[in-house]
Amino acid sequence: MRKEREMPEKISPGMQQYLDIKKDYPDAFLLFRMGDFYELFYEDAVNAAQILELTLTSRNKNSENPVPMAGVPHHAISEYIEKLVDLGYKVAVADQIENPKDAVGIVKRAVTQVITPGTMVDGKNNGENNFLVAIDQAENKFALAYIDLSTGEFKVTELPDFMTVKGEIASLKAHEVVAGYPLEESQTKQLTQQLNVLISEQFERDENISNVNSFQNLSSLSNKAENRALSSLAEKTEENKAEQEPMDLSALTDLEKSLVQKLLSYIKRTQMRDLSHVQNIEHYEIKDFLQMDYATKSSLELTANKREGKKHGTLYWLLDSTKTAMGSRLLRSWIDRPLLNVNEINKRLEITQILIDNFFERADLIESLKGVYDLERLASRVSFGKAVPVDFLQLANSLSNVPIIKNILESINQPLLSSLANRMDALPELTEFINLAIDDTAARTITEGGIIKTGYNEQLDKYREALENGTSWIAKLEADEKVKTGISTLRIDFNRKDGYYFHITQSQLGSVPDHFFRKATLKNSERFGSKELSEIEEIMLEAKEKSSTLEYELFLKVRATTEQYISRLQALAKAVAEIDCLQSFATIAEKEGYIRPVLTPHDKAVNIKNGRHAVVEAVMGAQEYVPNDIEFSKDTTIQLITGPNMSGKSTYMRQFALTVIMAQIGSFVPAEVAKLPIFDAIFTRIGASDNLISGESTFMVEMSEANHAIQSATENSLIIFDELGRGTATYDGMALAQAIIEFVHDKIGAKTLFATHYHELTELETTLKHLKNVHVATLEENGNVTFLHKITEGPADKSYGIHVAKIAGLPNVLLERADIILQKLENKPVIVQSLENHDEQLSLFDFDEQSTEIIDRLKKANIDNMTARDAMNFLWDLKDLL
Ligand code: ADP
Ligand code: MG
Repeated sequence: MRKEREMPEKISPGMQQYLDIKKDYPDAFLLFRMGDFYELFYEDAVNAAQILELTLTSRNKNSENPVPMAGVPHHAISEYIEKLVDLGYKVAVADQIENPKDAVGIVKRAVTQVITPGTMVDGKNNGENNFLVAIDQAENKFALAYIDLSTGEFKVTELPDFMTVKGEIASLKAHEVVAGYPLEESQTKQLTQQLNVLISEQFERDENISNVNSFQNLSSLSNKAENRALSSLAEKTEENKAEQEPMDLSALTDLEKSLVQKLLSYIKRTQMRDLSHVQNIEHYEIKDFLQMDYATKSSLELTANKREGKKHGTLYWLLDSTKTAMGSRLLRSWIDRPLLNVNEINKRLEITQILIDNFFERADLIESLKGVYDLERLASRVSFGKAVPVDFLQLANSLSNVPIIKNILESINQPLLSSLANRMDALPELTEFINLAIDDTAARTITEGGIIKTGYNEQLDKYREALENGTSWIAKLEADEKVKTGISTLRIDFNRKDGYYFHITQSQLGSVPDHFFRKATLKNSERFGSKELSEIEEIMLEAKEKSSTLEYELFLKVRATTEQYISRLQALAKAVAEIDCLQSFATIAEKEGYIRPVLTPHDKAVNIKNGRHAVVEAVMGAQEYVPNDIEFSKDTTIQLITGPNMSGKSTYMRQFALTVIMAQIGSFVPAEVAKLPIFDAIFTRIGASDNLISGESTFMVEMSEANHAIQSATENSLIIFDELGRGTATYDGMALAQAIIEFVHDKIGAKTLFATHYHELTELETTLKHLKNVHVATLEENGNVTFLHKITEGPADKSYGIHVAKIAGLPNVLLERADIILQKLENKPVIVQSLENHDEQLSLFDFDEQSTEIIDRLKKANIDNMTARDAMNFLWDLKDLL
């Protein structure tokens, strides 16, 4: 009898146990195993009931203070956990850790698992990465580490500022960030908002939930509960040191090292185990890759579309013809980090070319890749102890494709492919081992037998033989007794309660022999046993139990053996992923008619002939994309693009950015000729997209993005400014636009595309020698205007708007008036001369006659004695002189 029934008003031992555990997990939903249910109590119950649509009841209903309670059936727990975690919550699972039969008093319970958004390994995320990010700070630098527990990918870097940290988190699409230092309040706020955006991009979720609990995403390592857990973990780590192979951290900075250690502690705390697939950490530097901030990546729709944050309609979507999950993941990270090293880029381009040239080999390669399952995920399931029998079959199947892939690569007879093939270790001994051990028809369950192949283990075979013999003995006994007793309907049956028994119908009871004894009486029949039957039964039950126990043990051994291959499996996965990405490049290049770009790190000129916007072209369908040339001589740095709305300015600029990115990830590009320098960064200020993350006003966002570009760009960068200055009053915006153009022109020298509706800016071409005007051509025919989408030299026709208004049928008087106003406006000198000329004027060297006279007159003028009228006249005279 439970004590709580006797003392309902006091806290029961069960509830006390709950509270003791809960206090260590204040920021997580605690699922507390009781019988066939996992129960939630108090606030957890109230919140979970709402989120998971559970019935909210209460414990001790009749007491003064009933405890709110909600429960989920134990077999459905993963579904509920997944839902909570997808929404950004943490979940702790407390299980019974002793057999209730053995329990003295209350059964022992403990948390066996903590699942957080960044440590979820079983989600249905289509093989995409799920990164857990950790950050730390020392003086003026930051360290950032990220890990995907489902694949073992683990990297760390140092970053200069919090903005870059935020950018990395965003481009990793992290769902959880842990901080190794006490975050400033504003940082917490920024990160929380950002995580909410990233999570809601992926999962539809209720606004209210995200606001209430957003802080839960930031499982700050610095809060008290965590610190306690950290220090205790540190002690445990000390104890276990002898058994553990320590990770090699020698190449890391001190800050990186300490962060990695903190992150590993956090993982251990949540996962409660050593993870054999987390074996290597890789240091990376963002400056080794083409840099793009989050705004740039998202406005170029590289891996997530703007509308819903999904893959469809992105560059990733277009280029992804990979056949394996690891290939698809690698492709995404390639797109996120285009290369700078021309040799690395050329290697990818060369292999792509070879694969295009070897059509049949590529077709075979694709077929074999289709048979390779997610090796990284399989490895991590092994490491997590979650691998089931079919996982091993898939692993062996996958491995058996590797020698075929190697053969194909070698048959092409090219050094680059042979060296890729050499990196692939097919692990034949592991394949053979699994094929020997695991039954081809094995299922997902690991406790019900049928896992291990006959012939693998002698003892197991003996048990199985006993079982088989028993079955035929029973058949024989049944036949014999039928004859002996003359009961034609006699049969032997089995159920759990009565074991094996003779089934005798009521009408035959008279013929039951003496050596039968009664086991059970039913309505229309009775069940009997016999000594002989009991003997067989005993042998069979023993064999059955022993064989499934033995099978389970053998299976665990297979798992442990496989675990030793994890790092080799991961290395193999990497090589397979690479060739998969490259065949994908080849396949898409061939299908879409792309060409190999030529990268010229030492030549600043750009020469793209008949280029297209890869994604727009692919989704256009029946319409034809109008190809465009993009040309910069080595002395041109800025293209000022004018043209009416909807003519194709933005598309042209994005086309260039995408072509650059495609080239630098080693992909072929949509053009007939593409000669490009290597860019170190791409900065964009595109469209009027409001910044969801910070909630800043559009113009503020516009200016801070412009500032970011100007402060960070080098002469090797690419800047795209689309309608800069639009967010403020005309002159204000135009003035800023001009000043920014001049600044980029004089001080930075980055290749810049600047689309503008300020026609006046086209005059800058006369004074800025690295700036060129281009415009989008339009065709007017029989009162119809057609946008040709064709970029052409020179500025756009200024009275274009009035033309369109005329075609639209506006009254003639109105149009004439517009013409007059336009002329007036055009006679006004709006554009201030560019800085260079301005400098020359200030240098006072070549003042002309008028200027000298004006200065003379100004010097002589006695302003104190002037009337207002005199002053006006004086001014008018001066102006006339000018
Ligand atoms: P703008 O920036 O000048 O307002 P956009 O670049 O937004 O114009 O393009 C307007 C429309 O024209 C888009 O729907 C786009 O798909 C189409 N378009 C742009 N460039 C081309 C092109 N080269 N070929 C075909 N259609 C194009
Ligand atoms: Mg536009």
